[in-house]
Amino acid sequence: MKQLKKRILKDGKCLEGGILKVDNFINHQMDAGLMMEMAQEIVARFKGTAIDKVITIEASGIAPAIMVAYLLDVPVVFGKKKVPSTMDGIIRSEVFSFTKSRSYNICLCKDYLKKGERCLFVDDFLANGNAALGVLDLAVQTGAEIVGMAFLIEKGFQAGGKILREKGIHIESLAIIESLDNCEIKIKD
Ligand code: 5GP
Repeated sequence: MKQLKKRILKDGKCLEGGILKVDNFINHQMDAGLMMEMAQEIVARFKGTAIDKVITIEASGIAPAIMVAYLLDVPVVFGKKKVPSTMDGIIRSEVFSFTKSRSYNICLCKDYLKKGERCLFVDDFLANGNAALGVLDLAVQTGAEIVGMAFLIEKGFQAGGKILREKGIHIESLAIIESLDNCEIKIKD
């Protein structure tokens, strides 16, 4: 998506370890107009797919996911990283965090992910695919179906995209980073 690629080149920064910092417009301060355009693009790319619910993980996935859910007029549920004391009927999956280099649990109340529900997973980044695989595992636990996954930014030089596409999942990424070598951002055309 042209506007996103332009913005990454303008405002994105490379950090050590192959991390792209976009907290000027996605991860901390957010550009709501661009976020809505990205949500519209995601909805267009999944036109023709029946979707009952949008699913994401806190915190960075929530902004794009809520806009996609609004446009589709369906509910949005997010996996929590801490189990609230008030939550019953919890399902969980362990995820290794690429940016924090440690594992955490994502948990969800099973009332909000039901058997047969057709879900679209939306997240900010796809790197090694661990967060996405965690969500897939939650869906398997409840019998819900992940009908597609949409990412604002895919890091094409990491394994996640290949792993998920090989599973036959419909994956859409609005910008694919080819390389961050030598702190230079290269984006696929
Ligand atoms: P994965 O689970 O695919 O390995 O990593 C995806 C998650 O890690 C995303 O939800 C995102 O929060 C975080 N992440 C991975 N790579 C980057 C990156 O280069 N920059 C930022 N800001 N977050 C990233």
